[in-house]
Amino acid sequence: MTGKIPQIVAPDSAGLARAAEMIRAGGLVAVPTETVYGLAARADSAEAVAGIYRAKGRPDFNPLIVHVASLEQARALARMDARAEKLAEQFWPGPLTIVLPLAPGAAVAPAVTAGLPTIAVRMPAHPVMRSLLELCGMPLAAPSANRSGAVSPTCAEHVARSLGAAVPLIVDGGTCAKGLESTIQALRDDGSWNLLRPGPIAESELAAVLGPCAIPGDGGIEAPGQLASHYAPGKPVRLDATDAAPDEFVIGFGAITGDVSLSPAGDLAEAAAQLYACLHKASAARQPRIAVAPIPQTGIGVAINDRLRRAAV
Ligand code: AMP
Ligand code: MG
Repeated sequence: MTGKIPQIVAPDSAGLARAAEMIRAGGLVAVPTETVYGLAARADSAEAVAGIYRAKGRPDFNPLIVHVASLEQARALARMDARAEKLAEQFWPGPLTIVLPLAPGAAVAPAVTAGLPTIAVRMPAHPVMRSLLELCGMPLAAPSANRSGAVSPTCAEHVARSLGAAVPLIVDGGTCAKGLESTIQALRDDGSWNLLRPGPIAESELAAVLGPCAIPGDGGIEAPGQLASHYAPGKPVRLDATDAAPDEFVIGFGAITGDVSLSPAGDLAEAAAQLYACLHKASAARQPRIAVAPIPQTGIGVAINDRLRRAAV
């Protein structure tokens, strides 16, 4: 085995076996999901979870999403009421995270929930993450595999660049299909719900299952992914740009071509998948500033604009 860190392995049986072995021993592994790359560790170990916070430089008041392979695992972590079961049936496996009351006796390190009485749970759809969860045989805490506050990773190279030697192993599963973090929805004990973070699953899709949300569009800052500054590319960002100054790197969309384009065809799903790769390119470009073309505020455009606003602070 060569000494280069991080090691990047293929998602074949040898690579996955090695990743599972490292995680079971309390280590960290970066792994692809359908949203972005996650930095995974066993959720039941305080030391392993401390490793995630350390590697990311993440503030310890920012709780982690726990990923499960099965409904049984979800039910052992969270109090899944009838609404949660309905959502799980409709959207799992997939890019929906549900915040629920922590189940009594749940085997999670307190740092996972940052001491909250609630827990964020998701069953991912990506075959590599699913295989890893099966092999580990336990729920895995996994935030995005980047330094805290920086642009999220949608390929193995982004992870290596952001975390460097802080992550010993990356399972390379190619580019993430959705490219944006999961939708986070909180279910309240009084029967209401709200959206903590917009994502690939739209508010209207959730409302179709549960009825309208209690506090549309603004649940207050309960999820630090909602903090004003996040996904920062390290230089000023100007939004809704229909023209460009000579010192701006332009991220285009549709008819606005730019230095790179989120989607020349104006397709929002493609734009979501390309967003972080474009921000990484903009960040590395010689221009000191970034301008981004207008993105329609419909469907997944809501989540794209949410991330762009936070990148622009
Ligand atoms: P990340 O893992 O970086 O995608 O961020 C996960 C997001 O889930 C953060 O914004 C967390 O604050 C949010 N989250 C995790 N657990 C909870 C919880 N119990 N209540 C509210 N938000 C949560
Ligand atoms: Mg993140």
